[in-house]
Amino acid sequence: MTKRIGIPRGLLFYNFFLLWSSFFESLGMEVISTAETNKGILDKGASKVVDEACLPVKVFYGHVAELAERELDYIFVPRMVSIEKGAYICPKIIGIPDMVKANITAKPAYLAPNLNMREKESHDQFLKEIAANMGKPLIQVQKAWRSAMKVQQKYELDLLQGIYPEKVFLKRETLEHNGDLNILLLGHEYNLYDDYINMGIRKKLKQMGCNLMTVNQVPKYVQQLESRVLSRRMFWTYGKSLLGTARYFRELPGSKGVILLTSFGCGIDSIVGNMIIRYLGKMKIPYLNITLDEHTGEAGINTRIEAFIDLLRWRRELDEDNISTYGKYLGSPQRYAGIYGS
Ligand code: SF4
Repeated sequence: MTKRIGIPRGLLFYNFFLLWSSFFESLGMEVISTAETNKGILDKGASKVVDEACLPVKVFYGHVAELAERELDYIFVPRMVSIEKGAYICPKIIGIPDMVKANITAKPAYLAPNLNMREKESHDQFLKEIAANMGKPLIQVQKAWRSAMKVQQKYELDLLQGIYPEKVFLKRETLEHNGDLNILLLGHEYNLYDDYINMGIRKKLKQMGCNLMTVNQVPKYVQQLESRVLSRRMFWTYGKSLLGTARYFRELPGSKGVILLTSFGCGIDSIVGNMIIRYLGKMKIPYLNITLDEHTGEAGINTRIEAFIDLLRWRRELDEDNISTYGKYLGSPQRYAGIYGS
C-alpha cells in the first residue's frame, strides 16, 4: 500500500516544499500538505506552544496539529541545523522536532532526520537517516534526492524570475512591474508568503501600484557577497540573506522603499533587523518596520502601509527637480524670477 507523508505548511515550507515533495514522491509516497493558515490553525498552534514562541513557530505547531489527526504514516519535521558551511539557521527551527514531539501527540510517526551542513556540505547523513527510518535502500534514497534537487533548482530559478508555482502557493502568481514604486518586502519566507499572518500584505501593495521584490528575486551569491560588508561573518543563513538583499536594493533605480516584516519574539530579527534599519537610514532609503504577532490588527497594518506609500509618493514629488513633460512641476513664477528676470 502507498505510504502517506504529511508536510506542514509552515517555517521552511516555502523554501523547500518542492524539494521534499518531489523526493518523497520519487520514493513512491503520497505527499499531503496542510491548507493555508487560518484562525483555527493559528489558535490550535498557540494553545499548544509556550507563550514565548515567535508567531511562525505557533503557526507551525498549528499545521502539525492538523496533520496529527489524519490517517498518515509520517509527519515530516526535519531538524534543520545548518544548510550551508559555517552558518546556522535559527535555534527554534533547530529545536522544532523535539518541541512538537513533546507537545503534540500524533497518530502518524514523526520523521525527523538531522540536516547539519555546518562542517561539511553534504546530505549523506540526512539521507542515511531517512533510508534507515523508512526501511528503503540508501541507493534508492540518494537517487530520489538527486532528482528532487533538480526540481529545487528549477523552483529557485522560477522565484528569481518572479514566478510562484501553484504546487507551493496554491495559485500560480507572477510578479509584474507596472507600478510606479519599487518596494522591497523584506522578511523570512514564512512571513512573506503566509497571507494569513501578514494579512495579505503582498496583495495590498500590488493594489496600491507597487512593484514588489523579495529576497527570492536576488541570487544567493549576490546576497552572500553583499552581506560580507560586516567585519565578521554573520552567524545565520537567513540573516545574511536579508542583509545582503537590503544592500543590493540600494543600487536599484526608481522611487523605492523597504517594508521589513519581523516576528515578535524573534532573536535573530531583533539583531539583523536593527542592522538593516541602521543601514537603510544611512543610505537614506525610506523603510517601514512591521512586527507581526497574533494580536496584530489588520486596520493598524493598513493605515501604516497607506501612510508609508503616500509618504514615498509625496517625497518623490518634492524631490522632483526636472521639468516634467506634462508641466506639473513647473512651480510658482517667483521661483524662476532670478533666471528669466522679473
Ligand atoms: S528566525 Fe525568528 S521568526 Fe524564524 S523561527 Fe527563528 S525565532 Fe522564529
